[in-house]
Amino acid sequence: MQLAGGAAALLAAGCSTERPRPVVGRGDGPQPELFERIPLGDTRLGGELGRKIDDCIVARIFAQNADRLVEPFRHRNETSQWQTEFWGKWVLSAVKAYRYQPDPARLEKIIRSPRAIVATQSPDGYIGNYAPGHHLQAWDVWGRKYTLLGLLACHDLTGEKQLLTAASRLADHLLTEVGPGKADIIHTGLYRGMASSSILQPMVRLYHRTGRERYLEFAEYIVGQWSEPDGPRLIEKALAGVPVAHRFPPPKQWWSWENGQKAYEMLSCYEGLLELYRTTGHEPHREAVVRVFDDVLAHEILAPGSGSQRECWFDGARRQAAPGEHRMETCVTITWMRYCAALLRLTGEPRFADAFEHALRNALLGALTPNGDSFAKYSPLTGIRELGEKQCGMDLNCCVANGPRGLMLAPDVAVMRDDAGVVMNLYGESDAAVELPSGNRVRLEQRTAYPAVGDVTLQVSPEHEERFRLRLRIPAWSDRARLAVNGEPVAEIASGSYAALERVWRDGDRIELGLDFRARRIRVPGAAEFAVVRGPLLLARDARLERASLDGPAAFAASPDEHLECEPAGEAGKGIARSYRVRLRSGELRLCEYATAGNTWTAESRYRVWSPESGAGSV
Ligand SMILES: [Zn+2]
Repeated sequence: MQLAGGAAALLAAGCSTERPRPVVGRGDGPQPELFERIPLGDTRLGGELGRKIDDCIVARIFAQNADRLVEPFRHRNETSQWQTEFWGKWVLSAVKAYRYQPDPARLEKIIRSPRAIVATQSPDGYIGNYAPGHHLQAWDVWGRKYTLLGLLACHDLTGEKQLLTAASRLADHLLTEVGPGKADIIHTGLYRGMASSSILQPMVRLYHRTGRERYLEFAEYIVGQWSEPDGPRLIEKALAGVPVAHRFPPPKQWWSWENGQKAYEMLSCYEGLLELYRTTGHEPHREAVVRVFDDVLAHEILAPGSGSQRECWFDGARRQAAPGEHRMETCVTITWMRYCAALLRLTGEPRFADAFEHALRNALLGALTPNGDSFAKYSPLTGIRELGEKQCGMDLNCCVANGPRGLMLAPDVAVMRDDAGVVMNLYGESDAAVELPSGNRVRLEQRTAYPAVGDVTLQVSPEHEERFRLRLRIPAWSDRARLAVNGEPVAEIASGSYAALERVWRDGDRIELGLDFRARRIRVPGAAEFAVVRGPLLLARDARLERASLDGPAAFAASPDEHLECEPAGEAGKGIARSYRVRLRSGELRLCEYATAGNTWTAESRYRVWSPESGAGSV
């Protein structure tokens, strides 16, 4: 195949230790995922997480006036804003919510909405709200990306052919505006073209649904343009190990084309790149995506499991205890969770599930309002939770529209299957049914108060007895795990792996898993600031639990391996369902869970993750 422009270039990786590799190419063709999702409707999450998802489905997703999100598409007068992303984000979460909890009224609401979007399509194929003469500027292509994703998700749900036709016409129209000899994708929109370039993902999906080579070629064109001299160089820099915060000099203007550190848009491009890899098998693409995961996890992920400051990477792991504004944009949290989930499916490696759970149970649940109707735009590590501004003259913002997509990932990740059986990724009260390759269905019932405790009971009930493998994630933080099947202990359980139980399973077999819930002290790399984690949960100080200042130092009495004496102290009132007493060298400190800290969303519950460590005289 003849590749256009920069797509054909063989470019040096930018580092003497790296050999040049082609940024675009076709490897071994389609790549399978090692873990496969089960139908969403076959999983039911209970417990606290399940209730929060249920609340969000009712109070946010299906409470949304969908026509209000379609309205901007009826007016072609925009020159700078991003309101056309809201419909796509909403409908993606609505489709998943419906698949998770089917309901005719919800289906009816979903079906009407893409039809209303298609009704705004002009004869040239354009769907959007940018004024003639302003196409491709600012957030125009980004909005088209979410519209494409939304139309494809609705088509997948309903099979309505006109939705796929409309999506193809939208893409074909973009192909008349952008590409070799036309506008250059990296010079459309903001952030070195990363916002526009993230249309890569739906282009790959459209290729799969239509089989039309031009969409795959356009996807490869986008990736090729990244390597142009002023492009974001997303592949070379990833392969060369350039940290995401140090890709480009600090921009003169933050919200501008020059800014190459914008976290959400950058991750969105890599998400698309992973889908392209799964289609073409071009190995450097997989390697770039995994290296970025490693870099972000090591250098950017903050104690609650997400990252960013003022929506950009900022070398956050090292700087997180220092004051900073606009930490952990919820859109970054969701995109990071999507990234982790996609890598988990591709590779079957538990570390991606660890990172996913970390973000879900702390950053994302902390950003969710107590009644499930909204999400914070940013979540501080010290401060007060607050809702973000309403954007673009609408009644929501980017993160409120996006938040439910993160929650709806949980039932998608909780239980999966592989070629040998069942994979349990998330613990918590739940019921799931998994169809084995043989067609035999297995029911899996988890009975547990996790994450309040680390003990999980799992009842395994196949329709017919059968030999298969059941894998259980043992998180990397669980140094000491106990596992037994029908009372028989299983030896050699390693943290950071899947415990594989391969046997003939019979109705009523019972697994008991005990994860290590000893509290641990964690620290900011290179600094004397400490925080406390217990199981998957980050703990925090909260003004409701401390009469004196929240900001004083704390001398934690940690063992040489950083474990702490930490006793659950029950409900603490004022919205704190669970509190903990952590022993200090002198006295104790009351903590609650980060996701609960600050949950009055007022100064009454000001909270703090990191405590300066000190010796004598500390609290
Ligand atoms: Zn956002």
